[in-house]
Amino acid sequence: MSKQEQDQSDKQKYEFQKVIEDLKEYEGSGTQLVSIYIPEDRQISSVVSHVTQEHSEASNIKSKQTRTAVQDALTSIKDRLRYYDTYPPDNGMVVFSGAIDTGGGRTDMITKVLESPPQSIESFRYHCDSDFLTEPLEEMLGDKGLFGLIVLDRREANVGWLRGKRVEPVKSASSLVPGKQRKGGQSAQRFARLRLEAIDNFYQEVAEMADSLFVDQRHEMDGILVGGPSPTKDEFLDGDYLHHELGDMVLGKFDVSYTDESGLYDLVDAAQDILDEHEMMQDKSEMEEFFKELHDGDLATYGFGPTRENLMMGAVDRLLISEDLRKDVVTYTCPNGHEEREVLDRREEAPDHDCTRCDESVPADEGEREDLIDHLIDIAEQRGTETIFISTDFEKGEQLQNAFGGVAGILRYGTGV
Ligand SMILES: [Zn+2]
Repeated sequence: MSKQEQDQSDKQKYEFQKVIEDLKEYEGSGTQLVSIYIPEDRQISSVVSHVTQEHSEASNIKSKQTRTAVQDALTSIKDRLRYYDTYPPDNGMVVFSGAIDTGGGRTDMITKVLESPPQSIESFRYHCDSDFLTEPLEEMLGDKGLFGLIVLDRREANVGWLRGKRVEPVKSASSLVPGKQRKGGQSAQRFARLRLEAIDNFYQEVAEMADSLFVDQRHEMDGILVGGPSPTKDEFLDGDYLHHELGDMVLGKFDVSYTDESGLYDLVDAAQDILDEHEMMQDKSEMEEFFKELHDGDLATYGFGPTRENLMMGAVDRLLISEDLRKDVVTYTCPNGHEEREVLDRREEAPDHDCTRCDESVPADEGEREDLIDHLIDIAEQRGTETIFISTDFEKGEQLQNAFGGVAGILRYGTGV
């Protein structure tokens, strides 16, 4: 993935995250919020028929209020689907619609369409409930990373992917390794030799299967996990059967009892600590570097104002943003053309602004309000700066959010700002 694409997808993920957070806050007063997950190979016309069908079935809903709400949601979804040709965009799309409770007995109709999620939607889902179905999207956004998975014993092996939180079984193999019991008439020595040969052949076959899946993608992968009973997985790894570059990527071996497809899921469970640690590794090393520069160097910047100024100069190499940062920024332009900004909480009302340079006043409603992260990412993209979202699940990540306003940067060169 090129750097540009990486930035695009950071921004896209952030946009998705925001919509999901909003959706999760909404509640319908009955089962009247509709969520539809549409895979990329599902024809739009078939989705429209499904929605039409649901619309007519909704006429059986007893509560008039719920019935009307569901039918309105479905009509709104059909209207939106008109904008699409034969198929949805790449990776599919998700449509949410419903009448949400806005307090004081009033409701508001909202419809949101999320196109091309970070991973492809695998199956069509129609969901009508008192809340929106956001979990499948959250899973896609939750964990980063692409890992290769191998489970094996002497009889069976499975390989697959772990993408984010999703396990994808891909290939399997089974062996003809004879059991430990030899047949009558066979010499013990000969039997043992044949059996070892068969085991060796099977390990080679498993390695070829893994190589053919993983080698081409080794530069995109974050590591490989190997599972199985002892001593099989140890023999397999110690015997250097895997392509040498893949061998170097093995993050750990884990005891799992099953080596069929379900073993791949067990492997991911068993490796959870390592996966969590791995996810935090880049975040940790970025924050280490930030603190080192802060104390002993001149390549650290923090806080919205200084970081933005450095960004504008093109001096920021990596922009560090706390995952928990939820702020807006308002830009005021005074009659003399001075641009100044104020950072606000999401629900905080914008105040009138007095220009600090000429004392002219700018009324609140003339301020241009924006999500603070969007504001910074837009500048970062124009200046070729990489944006990294930092988890708050470790101490220095928490400090970024609590002590540095959730925004910092590592500079390309010192600027004195
Ligand atoms: Zn001014």
